[in-house]
Amino acid sequence: MDLSVKEREASTANRRVLADIEPREVMFFFEELSSRHRCSRHEKDAADYVADFAAARGLEHHRDELQNIIVKKPGTSGYEASPTVILHGHLDMVCKTDEGVIHDFTKGVRLKLDGDRIRAEGTTLGADNGLGIAYMLALLDSSDIAHPPLECVMTAMEEMGKVGGDGVDLALLSGKRMIDFNWIEEKQLLAGCSGDVSCRIDIDADWTAPAQGLLAYRIEIGGLLGGHCEFDIHFERANAIVALGRLLRRAMQTAPVEIARVSGGVQNNVIPAEAAALIRLHPDQADAVLAAIETLAADLRAEFKRADPDMRITVARSDAAPERVFSARAAARLVQVMLLLPDGVQTQNLEVPGNWETSNNIGLMVTTHEGVEITSTITSAVTSRKHAVLDQLMLIAEMAGEGVRAKQIGLDAPEFPWNPQSRMLAIAKDSYARVMGRQPDVLVSVCSLELGMFTQRIPGLDTIGIGTNLFDLHSPKESMDHASAARVWPLIKDVMRALRD
Ligand SMILES: [Zn+2]
Repeated sequence: MDLSVKEREASTANRRVLADIEPREVMFFFEELSSRHRCSRHEKDAADYVADFAAARGLEHHRDELQNIIVKKPGTSGYEASPTVILHGHLDMVCKTDEGVIHDFTKGVRLKLDGDRIRAEGTTLGADNGLGIAYMLALLDSSDIAHPPLECVMTAMEEMGKVGGDGVDLALLSGKRMIDFNWIEEKQLLAGCSGDVSCRIDIDADWTAPAQGLLAYRIEIGGLLGGHCEFDIHFERANAIVALGRLLRRAMQTAPVEIARVSGGVQNNVIPAEAAALIRLHPDQADAVLAAIETLAADLRAEFKRADPDMRITVARSDAAPERVFSARAAARLVQVMLLLPDGVQTQNLEVPGNWETSNNIGLMVTTHEGVEITSTITSAVTSRKHAVLDQLMLIAEMAGEGVRAKQIGLDAPEFPWNPQSRMLAIAKDSYARVMGRQPDVLVSVCSLELGMFTQRIPGLDTIGIGTNLFDLHSPKESMDHASAARVWPLIKDVMRALRD
C-alpha cells in the first residue's frame, strides 16, 4: 500500500521523538526521513517520500532511475527574478550497527534524545545527510521564508562513491550559485574540498583442498573505534584489516597456516573496526602459533593504547570445516598485499596548516568465489598526489605477481577548488556575522564531497557549504547537536533572504 504524504505524516506523528526540538519545521522532516530506508542503493523509499511531498505541494520535480531527485520552487515575492540557487544534500546514509545489534534498516532508524544530542538506537543516525535534506524540505515547504528560485538536488548513493552525483542530470539545473548542506561543523563555511578515488585489489585464492588433520581457528579483531576515512583518518586509529594482516604474517612465520577466508570492514570509506580470519593449523604447531599471535596481539594493544583503547583480539577453535583453502602461494600473496598497502595519512597539507592532504583508507576486505577483494579509498586536495597513491596500489599488485590485479573502481572525483573571489562566500560570511554574532572560519576541507562534481561540470558555479555540528559520522555513535541545528536554521534563512541579487 502506498501511503499519501498526509497519511505517512500522521503515522509518524504518533511516535514523534523530536516534536519539541527546535527548529521544529526541520526536525519534523528529519524524523520523517529517519523512518525510511536510506541505506545507499536503497533510497527508493526516501525518494518516494520526497516525490510525494513535491507532488502534494505542486512543486516541479524530476527523478531518475538512480533515485536522485530534484525539486524546484520559484522565488518568493520580490525574489522572482533573483539568481537561482542550487541546494544540495544526499538522500542516502551509511547503515552500520553496534556490535551485536541486529537492526532492520528498511524501517529507518530509531531516534533517541540524549541531552543536546540526537542519536539512533544501536545504529548510525543518518544526520549525514538526512539533516541536509530536512533543511531543503523545510525551505520547500515554507510559505514565510523569503528565498530566490530554488533547485534542490538530493542525490543517491553518495556514500558509495558519489554514484548519484555523477549521474544526476545537471542540464535540469539553471543555477550558477550553490549551497551544499553536507557539512558537519557549524563554525565553518566550506569553501573548498578534496577529491577521491577508490581502488580494488583482487587476489586469486587459487583454491586447494584442505590438508587432513588440521584444526580450524577463528581470529577476530574488534572493539576498534573505526570512523570516517576522511574526518577521522588523522587519529591514527587501528585499521582492523591491517592488524589482521600482521597477525596472519606472524602466524605464518611461526608455522604453516592454511587460510580459508578473511574479512574486514563494512564499506570502503569507513575505517574498518572489525576483521576476522578462519585459519587451519597442525595440532602439533597450534600452541606455538597461538602464542605468537598472542604476543603480537599484546604489542598491538600497546601500540594503540591511546588511539584505540578497547581493541580486542581473540583466537578460538572453530567448528567450521572449510571445503577449500587458499593455496600456500595465494595465502602468502594475500598477506603481502595486506601489509604493503599504504594506510592512513600520507602527506600533510602545507597550504592549510594542520590539515592532512592525502590519505588512503583500506576499508573493505571480502572473500569471494575467486579469492579476496580489498578496496581502499584515496582522498586528496591535489589530484596528482591522489593519482600517485593510486599508482602505488597498482604497482603493489603488479609486484605481487600472477593472480593479483588492481583497478580503479567508481569515479575519480575531483576536488572543489578554493575560490577567494567567491561572491557566495562573501554573502554567507555577512549573514553568518549577522546571525551568529561572530566571523565564521572559512574552511578548505580534507574530505571529498560531491561539490567537486558540480563545480567541475557547471561552468562558473559559485558554491559554498554550510554545516551543522554532527559527530562520529559513519559509526553507530553518530550524533547530531540539535542546538546547533537551531542556530544554523536562522543562518540558512538569512542567507536565503540575502541572495536577492
Ligand atoms: Zn557521509
